[in-house]
Amino acid sequence: MFTTNSNSNSIDPAMILIVEDDNDLAELISMHLTFQGHDVVRVTSLELARKRLDSTSFDLIVLDRGLEDGDGMQLCHELRQQQNWLPVLILTARDSEKDRVEGLESGADDYLTKPFSVLEFQARVRAMLRRKNHMADSSSANSVDTDNPP
Ligand code: CA
Repeated sequence: MFTTNSNSNSIDPAMILIVEDDNDLAELISMHLTFQGHDVVRVTSLELARKRLDSTSFDLIVLDRGLEDGDGMQLCHELRQQQNWLPVLILTARDSEKDRVEGLESGADDYLTKPFSVLEFQARVRAMLRRKNHMADSSSANSVDTDNPP
């Protein structure tokens, strides 16, 4: 039997929210994520993203910065203020060091500058989901790696 996915590389299907107003790009990354077995929801604005986040439980957000109703970083910041640690991957056309630092400081877990390679995008998504699953596993097991406040 021929299988296309080797088990060592496969991960659990995730629910992924793509917030991106560039339709071609959203289509491209959503196609790749779907092909890998993930469920994808696409929205084009911060307002629609907030609505979806209220009604659906996601495993990861792919977030554009330049959206019609604001900067994706705003949403990331809001989530963190609500103690929501959903993994966030920021996509942006801005590539100055300052922009990257700002992105990470808003609470994003990772940052990718457009144009990026789809392979790199996939690798980053995989790494983020792996980290998330690992964290979920360890907290349900012994909770040995949780931070102990002094
Ligand atoms: Ca955009």
